[in-house]
Amino acid sequence: MPRGWAPGPAGVRGPAADTGVGQLSGDRSFPAAAHDALADTRLRANLAHATSTIRGKRAQVVAEVPDWEALRDAGSAIKADAMACLPELLEQLEAAVVARGGVVHWARDAAEANAIVVDLVKATGADEVVKVKSMATQEIGLNEALDAAGITPHETDLAELIVQLGRDKPSHILVPAIHRGRAEIREIFAREMPGVDPTLTDDPAALAAAARTHLREVFLRARVAVSGANFAVAETGTLTVVESEGNGRMCLTLPEVLITVMGIEKVIPTWRDLEVFLQLLPRSSTGERMNPYTSTWTGVVPGDGPQEFHLVLLDNGRTRALADELGRTALHCIRCSACLNVCPVYERTGGHAYGSVYPGPIGAILTPLLTGLTGGDDPNDSLPYASSLCGACYDVCPVKINIPDILVQLRAEHTEAHADTHRLPSPEAAAMKAAAWVMADDGRFAKAGRAAGWARHGIRDGKPVLPLPPPLNGWTASRDAPALPTETFRDWWDRTRKAPQ
Ligand code: SF4
Repeated sequence: MPRGWAPGPAGVRGPAADTGVGQLSGDRSFPAAAHDALADTRLRANLAHATSTIRGKRAQVVAEVPDWEALRDAGSAIKADAMACLPELLEQLEAAVVARGGVVHWARDAAEANAIVVDLVKATGADEVVKVKSMATQEIGLNEALDAAGITPHETDLAELIVQLGRDKPSHILVPAIHRGRAEIREIFAREMPGVDPTLTDDPAALAAAARTHLREVFLRARVAVSGANFAVAETGTLTVVESEGNGRMCLTLPEVLITVMGIEKVIPTWRDLEVFLQLLPRSSTGERMNPYTSTWTGVVPGDGPQEFHLVLLDNGRTRALADELGRTALHCIRCSACLNVCPVYERTGGHAYGSVYPGPIGAILTPLLTGLTGGDDPNDSLPYASSLCGACYDVCPVKINIPDILVQLRAEHTEAHADTHRLPSPEAAAMKAAAWVMADDGRFAKAGRAAGWARHGIRDGKPVLPLPPPLNGWTASRDAPALPTETFRDWWDRTRKAPQ
């Protein structure tokens, strides 16, 4: 059994992730951060171009698969089964990794996971590590912890490298530098990359070649690598990383010591289950039929690859999410980013507005599930409202996570938490209460309908004749008011359908 904590469906919530460590929270609410992002026209142009390109590729390759819906059902079912017996699967995984020469560490939270990795690197005597792109290590702020311990982390995924050299934060799950244009990347490389050719152009091939030259040197001298994992197979103890560039494979094979940090939800029962996810993931994420590089490793093999392997299993709020019947389905996420690419809110604001390392629709549910909703001023409390609830995310999700339903549940939880901390009702709460009173009575509803009809006299060419008081003027300042009909539906029904008395 995992020491120190016990994931299980007993309804007992584990501790919330500490937002003070790592990158699970920004310092401003979503509306405030989104307001600034919306004013950045270059950001919006970069995002619109990138997301529409990936969207198009995804739609094309998904349409080629006749049993796509059956695959989605299979992916969803495997994940649901894995979550239902997570403690047993994790124990099975631990036993299999240990049997093949690996060492397993359990981390309750970000601070514990960082301390484990820092100690492991220190024990090797190395003062630098190469890193495979990993959401889990960003979530816990591992780079900052390594820096603080005098160990230099080198990101090797091209987009992550751009983010790291630009002292920036990732803004997309798959394309962390999606908010940067070619010219900006050239500037960053010219400024930050040691020994770069000063005549470097912003041609993508030239930029990729510069990164390759820089990284090759790092790969050849690094003795320790840190990776994430896309999946972990419990029956064999096998870890998997899928990627497009091959840099990950260099990290996974060249160094002497490999440390993998993985969220506990990444475990799947059998090798056979990989078959489903290795079809769902590439088509949903990059719009490719299969990943260019799929690396799998199981413990250590004498004389071949890293000779020391450590697996750090991270909770950091996941057992908290697991105890929530609907919320636990957020843990099914395979981080494909398809939901980000179809989200009208993400496309306009970009990932930084969400504050967390998990942006977009999945971030709007996963982050509050991991950190909890306080009902206070916590920036993450605004995330469940960062959605139009259009449902596009649900339609594309390869493992059928019902993101809109979870958003609605989280909004309800937030409203309840808010009610405890605020004695006076918010304007929305007061308006909803008044609407509930009107709609509860047939006569009241009919009268309200007729009264609303009179409001049409106050609107001309889509604008109120007299200025409305705040906050209603905020609505009409940027939108036309709809033309109100001269007759209510009830009156029309009575006039045209009711039998004469
Ligand atoms: S929620 Fe679904 S669509 Fe979004 S990243 Fe996760 S698996 Fe992909």
